[in-house]
Amino acid sequence: MTRRIPEPFRIKMVEPIKQTTHNERRTALEAAGWNPFLLRADDVYIDLLTDSGTGAMSDRQWAGLMTGDEAYAGSRSFYRLADTVNELFGYRYTIPTHQGRGAEQILFPELVKRLGSTKPVFLSNYHFDTTKAHVELAGAQAINLLTPDAFETTRPHPWKGNFDLDRLAEMLQQHQGHVAAVIATVTCNSAGGQPMAMDNLRTASELARRHGVPLVLDAARFAENAWFIRERDPAYRDVSLTEIVREMFGYADVFTMSAKKDALVNIGGLCCFRDDEDLFHAVQVRCVPMEGFITYGGLAGRDMEALAIGLKEGLDSDYLAYRIGQVAYLGERLAAAGIPIQTPTGGHAVFVDARQLLPHIPPEQFPAHALACELYLEGGVRAVEIGSLLLGRDPATGKQEPSPFELLRLTIPRRVYTNDHMDYIADCLVAVKQRAASIRGLGFSYEPPLLRHFTARLKPLI
Ligand SMILES: *Cc1c(COP(=O)(O)O)cnc(C)c1O
Repeated sequence: MTRRIPEPFRIKMVEPIKQTTHNERRTALEAAGWNPFLLRADDVYIDLLTDSGTGAMSDRQWAGLMTGDEAYAGSRSFYRLADTVNELFGYRYTIPTHQGRGAEQILFPELVKRLGSTKPVFLSNYHFDTTKAHVELAGAQAINLLTPDAFETTRPHPWKGNFDLDRLAEMLQQHQGHVAAVIATVTCNSAGGQPMAMDNLRTASELARRHGVPLVLDAARFAENAWFIRERDPAYRDVSLTEIVREMFGYADVFTMSAKKDALVNIGGLCCFRDDEDLFHAVQVRCVPMEGFITYGGLAGRDMEALAIGLKEGLDSDYLAYRIGQVAYLGERLAAAGIPIQTPTGGHAVFVDARQLLPHIPPEQFPAHALACELYLEGGVRAVEIGSLLLGRDPATGKQEPSPFELLRLTIPRRVYTNDHMDYIADCLVAVKQRAASIRGLGFSYEPPLLRHFTARLKPLI
């Protein structure tokens, strides 16, 4: 087992978290309709629902909150943010948004409008769930073109976030004139926080350009992806993270970013343009009624100040080595206990393969969701299903599609939990594994029409 990397920070402020009894957890889960999303956070001991907006800010970011400029228009904090974006990514035009989906909702309709097609599509390695939702709200179809390597969860491959480039070329051809954008999601959240290789991104970009299609980087985890490129691609061993980031962003025309991930803030997003001034202005027009004036986009001045600082802290080498090392450590503990996980572990989460752990539960009874419920009952650990429940029904046919994955995501917040917490989580899952054969699937008692995993209510099947 690799050595644990100690936290590269010391703790200045603590927030108590509470252990509960098995009975308390059972009552809480029943009240939540067997949907961990609907639990009260106070009933959760370790919260691995998401790494989104759950990170701990640094002392410097907290200091930044005090110096934020709350001017409605032309805030100093906006300019500091835009300068940081330009410095790190080489993008001239910045629109702040309230979070990642804010960027999606103002950008995608404009890309579709520009295209003027009646059958618009977006092509991605894998559309994140809100990304898919905004593609569909913009009247377009979301097509995923992930490398087949990603679907064999227990077989290691360094770049499971890659595009299947042959299919990308094929789809660009087939949908010629109807492709609103190619979206490169780095890292690929839905495949397990798996990185995209630089040469894969480069080729995807060349293909898109050849067809006159813009490439959008969905850059929520840009720093973790850059770290993997340096670790795993010998050509980048001696290249700095900042240079790697520059190159990655150079292959795109636009980036959307949920700043709640690698940018280490609790709220915020970005929609930025390398040099397309016309598109930038058109999206600014959409920003005003949806997000807010163009120099704050739904954020307070202090949020933009903390974000400008977080963008740089998130790229610190020592921090990233610890961050990704902590995730890998949890993965190693689980693998050592014979629990099937997406291998190698990704940047922000360990993904347990519930299809393999609970082979007796069919996709339409949501094996990974059943596992999430059991893990909560076992130790108050809240994790989330990435599988058929998340995928939902085919909008055209109304049929439940079996997801290519049935994964339980153990998402690790940034700079929040210690390595001892990782041991506790592993111990709980090992206990759940021991009673795997007795775990049952779930059915709906209420099924919402859109993004149903957030608000669905379920019940265990007998
Ligand atoms: C989180 C996320 C989004 C959406 O961002 P929000 O800040 O949650 O609105 C989009 N794409 C990816 C890859 C994400 O991880």
